Amino acid sequence: MPRITRSVRDFVLPLEPSGSLDASLSFQLEEDAAALGIRLHTKVQKRLAQEHAELQSERTVLRTLEHDDFECLVRGRVDVLIPGVVPILEEIKTTFQPQGLLRALEANPFHPFAQQVRMYAWLLIQTSETAPTCRLRVISLLDEIETVVEVPFDAEAFSVWVEAQLQGLHRQHLEAVARAAERTATGLGLHFPFDAPRPGQERLLALVEESLNDQARLLVQAPTGLGKTAAVLYPGLQKTLADDLRVFYLTPRNSQHSVAEAFVRRLREAGHPVRSITLRAKERICPQAEVHCHPDVCPRAKGYYDRLKESCALARLAEAGCADSELIQELADEFNLCPFELSLDASRHADVIIGDYNYALSPSATLVRFFGDEAAQAKNILLIDEAHNLPNRATAWFSPALEVAQLSPDFAFDL
Ligand code: SF4
Repeated sequence: MPRITRSVRDFVLPLEPSGSLDASLSFQLEEDAAALGIRLHTKVQKRLAQEHAELQSERTVLRTLEHDDFECLVRGRVDVLIPGVVPILEEIKTTFQPQGLLRALEANPFHPFAQQVRMYAWLLIQTSETAPTCRLRVISLLDEIETVVEVPFDAEAFSVWVEAQLQGLHRQHLEAVARAAERTATGLGLHFPFDAPRPGQERLLALVEESLNDQARLLVQAPTGLGKTAAVLYPGLQKTLADDLRVFYLTPRNSQHSVAEAFVRRLREAGHPVRSITLRAKERICPQAEVHCHPDVCPRAKGYYDRLKESCALARLAEAGCADSELIQELADEFNLCPFELSLDASRHADVIIGDYNYALSPSATLVRFFGDEAAQAKNILLIDEAHNLPNRATAWFSPALEVAQLSPDFAFDL
């Protein structure tokens, strides 16, 4: 029986996002905020445990849900459970934008955070425990002020929602299986799109293939003109298509983006329907005067998901095959979409993701959707161009930075 595993947090995410983009209310926190949030989270759990001797924190819940011939193992850990005649179940959320989150929770009773706490309650009552009172504890990362929000929980109505969610996940799973089969077929028919490899290129092709099969790291130094991009991308693509993975072709130079795109185009001209997407930094492609990704400020963020669906922009990028930044920009302008989010959304369906080192390696800009956990990371093949740049990049990533502007006082007096 086909089986997938989802954390509670992922299980409750909308199957098809709708409405607006709002980075401040993102379900995925930025790295710094996440680290700060974990510390505050633990501190509050400890304090609550002192107030309630019988309190259980981080209680594991685990259940296999079935739909037709499909199984989904759902697992998670309850932040706070206070047993009693009517137990209290709490999920703690830390944020730099508490008021924004509270407004969002009020506006949307089915906000993923509210669904998450209901899902924990629903899982607990499957083992015949009394339905608990559900709460969200919203804590400000700025001043640690806490607000407790009651989340209404109707077990019967929620069971209907769980069933619908399970059906949706089953549908997505079948689509993923069909896409994997399509990719396998593309991989089997793939051939090197040039008459014959150049001298030295053949050796490199074999080395890359061997190291990918052995899951080994390979460091190569080769002269200009050998055809390195094709020699690493070709076996990378063969592996990625055969094993349903994705290739990240990481390069700091835009000119190298074009070389990788040209290779993908060449493969497509040779009849291989591979897909690539090129990611560019948000600050570079944002058409707004200021990068402020809030629907009240940016018209491209407001209603983004609704327009994305109506526009079929994702299907058009998939059809184009090689989605370079010009095409992304063009479609984003045509449908008033955020070009950065459009490229990220399209990257889910790409065989090759072309972009800067940051997306895979920077501690603050790594794409959570592809590097968020070990299972996601295991699906990535990293091909790193000009790797000699990495020590300098790493120094910048891991060194605290202070700019002159930050030192400028608001007032200065010469007495
Ligand atoms: S267009 Fe710019 S400001 Fe608007 S959501 Fe995109 S990156 Fe953010």
